[in-house]
Amino acid sequence: MAEALGLSGPRREGASVSEQDLTPEQREARDWAREFARRSVVPRALILDKDPESPERDAMVLEAAKAGIFGLALPEPMGGMGLDPVGSMLVTEELAAACAGCAVLFGASALGFSPILASFDMSLFDRFVRPIVESWSTEEPKHAALAATEPDMGSDFIQGHPQAHPRTRVTKRDGSYLINGTKVFISNGSLASMVTVFGSLDPSGPIRDNMICLAVPTDTAGFSVGQIFDKMGQRASPAAELVFDDVEVPEANRIGLDGGGWQINRLVMMLSRPAVGAIALGIARAAYEKAIEYAEARIQGGKAIVGHQAVQLMLADMAIRVEAARHLVHDASRSMARGQPDLKLSSMAKTFASDAAVANSIDAIQILGGYGYMHEYGVEKLLRDAKLTQIYEGTNQINRFEIMESVIASRA
Ligand SMILES: Cc1cc2nc3c(=O)[nH]c(=O)nc-3n(C[C@H](O)[C@H](O)[C@H](O)COP(=O)(O)OP(=O)(O)OC[C@H]3O[C@@H](n4cnc5c(N)ncnc54)[C@H](O)[C@@H]3O)c2cc1C
Repeated sequence: MAEALGLSGPRREGASVSEQDLTPEQREARDWAREFARRSVVPRALILDKDPESPERDAMVLEAAKAGIFGLALPEPMGGMGLDPVGSMLVTEELAAACAGCAVLFGASALGFSPILASFDMSLFDRFVRPIVESWSTEEPKHAALAATEPDMGSDFIQGHPQAHPRTRVTKRDGSYLINGTKVFISNGSLASMVTVFGSLDPSGPIRDNMICLAVPTDTAGFSVGQIFDKMGQRASPAAELVFDDVEVPEANRIGLDGGGWQINRLVMMLSRPAVGAIALGIARAAYEKAIEYAEARIQGGKAIVGHQAVQLMLADMAIRVEAARHLVHDASRSMARGQPDLKLSSMAKTFASDAAVANSIDAIQILGGYGYMHEYGVEKLLRDAKLTQIYEGTNQINRFEIMESVIASRA
């Protein structure tokens, strides 16, 4: 039934105002991603939503890794696809419109090694990132993950709250570091062969001066995967608890400086929030497209429901949200392309797009009526997927605080 109504995947062009600003290469990347999503992601989205451990996940990962999707923005000489930031967001939007959890499954490795890229340390790149990148063309593609959040510390780490005390302890030894602690909700943590982990050199001191970031191969003694969380949405991407029990790594695994970990995470957030915005934008667009298609086909009150003003008002708001979210995501990406990434703009893109994704998926369910509530139509999944975009990469409340910090600082 869902397929008969054309609701089995992203089909339309999406909003078009930004279209004229795209380069031919960006349009080509977007069209290529749309075709990849149609072929490899759409048929698996509902399967992985129901059964995240299905063998279909490995099959899809293999196809995505070989296609280069794990390294969208990584420069070509480093083994990536070398897309510019806007091109990378266009591809992410297409993948997320097909399945947001799948987009995270593909993108979490780039988040995992982003601290290393941000540090511009080629020896760390050669030791920890290159083997992962090289594995993408093989039958056993590897993953990376970023581990910051702890059971007792989420927003406080992102904000660098002066009264927060991280429990993950890093003890400096002669030529090595010893890590003890537990991380939670780590995207792709259970799949990763390397984790970039944040810990505290002095838990009684302020976060902003005492954090350290270390690269940890997951076959290091003392590392283990704990619980894999049973999530509400974005189920194709596993979120895991990671346990560090006397994990010892050499000093050469340090990313950046002793005490510089919080600043690295700050930089990572600035660069990664537009990608979360693009994931949310993909969800918002999919909700809009599914709703308008259904509204054109569904006859009630003697005509297609798209002809009823009450439905039109909802669809208009959905279209506005998609268009505005895309502008913010692209603006934030263009600031990155200019070499002037802007935390305020990145946070605005993430916050607005994630609110748009939640609002659009609620409206899409309403427009589909009873069918919208049914799993088969893939619209209730959009709402479950959308909700997470308001939480990770800093909750939207924390993002709003950071936007206001920038606003206030710029007026001082
Ligand atoms: C599925 C999933 C995947 C994730 N992936 C990763 C990952 O790969 N790596 C990683 O490190 N983390 C990851 N996270 C963690 C995520 O970034 C955190 O969940 C998020 O930052 C919120 O932290 P918290 O859950 O501890 O909530 P809390 O910080 O406890 O916040 C709870 C509530 O209180 C509010 N709040 C908190 N502090 C304040 C304040 N000062 N003022 C006002 N309100 C406040 C928040 O906005 C929120 O509404 C993931 C989370 C999920 C759910």
